[in-house]
Amino acid sequence: MKLFPLFADLNQRLVLVVGGGAVAARKAQALLEAGARVKVGAPELNPELAALAQAGRVTHIPGRFDEAWLDDTWLVVAATDDETVNARVAVAAGARRILANVVDDPKLSSFQVPSIVDRSPLIVAVSSSGVAPVLARRMRERIESLFDHALGPLAELAARYRARIRERRPDLGARRRFYDTLLDGPVAALLRQARPAEAEQALEAALEQPQEAPVGSVVLVGAGPGDPGLLTLKALRALNEADVILYDRLISAEIMSLARRDAERIDVGKRPGEDHPATQARIHGLMVEHARRGRRVVRLKGGDAFIFGRGGEELQYLRAHGVPYEVVPGVTAALACAAHAGIPLTHREHAQSLHLITAHCRDDNAQAMDWQALAGGNQTLAFYMGVGQLESLSRRLREHGRSADTPFALVENGSRPEQRVLTGRLEDLAPLARAHEIRSPALLIVGSVAALANELHWFGQHIDGMAAVPAA
Ligand code: SAH
Repeated sequence: MKLFPLFADLNQRLVLVVGGGAVAARKAQALLEAGARVKVGAPELNPELAALAQAGRVTHIPGRFDEAWLDDTWLVVAATDDETVNARVAVAAGARRILANVVDDPKLSSFQVPSIVDRSPLIVAVSSSGVAPVLARRMRERIESLFDHALGPLAELAARYRARIRERRPDLGARRRFYDTLLDGPVAALLRQARPAEAEQALEAALEQPQEAPVGSVVLVGAGPGDPGLLTLKALRALNEADVILYDRLISAEIMSLARRDAERIDVGKRPGEDHPATQARIHGLMVEHARRGRRVVRLKGGDAFIFGRGGEELQYLRAHGVPYEVVPGVTAALACAAHAGIPLTHREHAQSLHLITAHCRDDNAQAMDWQALAGGNQTLAFYMGVGQLESLSRRLREHGRSADTPFALVENGSRPEQRVLTGRLEDLAPLARAHEIRSPALLIVGSVAALANELHWFGQHIDGMAAVPAA
């Protein structure tokens, strides 16, 4: 059996729903959204349908199914839990050449309702011809992640300007190129940034231009801590649309494998001992160079780009050079490590605030830090980049009054399969880390919440440092 896909215009057309339960209510809602006039035939209505009837949005025909209910209808949906009633509806509709859908019964149905991805006026429909609805839903989820929510407004804008576009670009080839630049250029970008008025202005301006010059852009994307499941849908989409990806050292291979196959990939990771300012300058240069060639550049960073990621400097450089950009946030290491170690970063009984701190402190930075404030109780400290600094961190906190007993958790390779969490007392931090050979990337959490990992851990390997404290 092969179905013919179609999109029906039901606006102001009468549709019958047979059944008064939750399924019937869901169908009635969907039909109402399409502008249909809906009558619902059933002995009784559930509260949701009763409310719709009360509000005059649907008409209730009380009683058991009667063929006369089909008078003047274009379509019928049978959604009762009584198979014989459903079958009677299907037969009666067939006799009158009215298309009928019997919920969850492809054999009795003369049409199927697909799973949809709705970016109205753009709609993607998926059907398994009624035989594998779970599979269709899965596919729908996949597709959902690929299409930007800005596509709906974009299609609507393009529809409004259709006549003008045709007039300004009479040649078919030129018109196609124009639609391409709408999708890839500043108009779509402005819609994604929720700036519809400016998007319309950009469209107007583009229409007045004689030719489509390619406009590149940069998306600054936070890739999270390594587990590809922690990418956002927006990050995934950006990776799928990228022409060029500039990626950091901490980006996992699994994440890179999700990117568009033919995207150019450039490793711009900083390596220990390298000239960092030079590397950073090279990154700036590459972003601008590729964007100016009209390419979509993804600048992919571990965690979140604005947390110890130099994202701010990169945006300032792009702004100064007139390159359009967007930012997609990512799950930062502190959040990911805490979640995967079972450590609530705030807790009513333990901590009312959270500090994100870089321990990568040259001595002048370390001097500048307010150790007094950091040593206070009732707060959680999350130190990034700290493996080499554990000795001095632990000492300074204790010197400024934090108790030697303060719990810590050191999370190595957070959220990745090889994750290890080491817990213990602040005083034992450095020797324990040495004994267990903790390596970068590792995140240090200090504060009484850290002890909760002993009780709440659920992922990877947990090492309780209190069990065997090595000699300092
Ligand atoms: N922008 C990133 C942080 C970059 S700094 C973010 O938002 O997460 C790099 C430091 O982050 C590392 O030295 C380490 O302290 C921490 N880090 C990043 N990923 C980590 C991971 N998977 N597990 C533990 N720490 C991590």
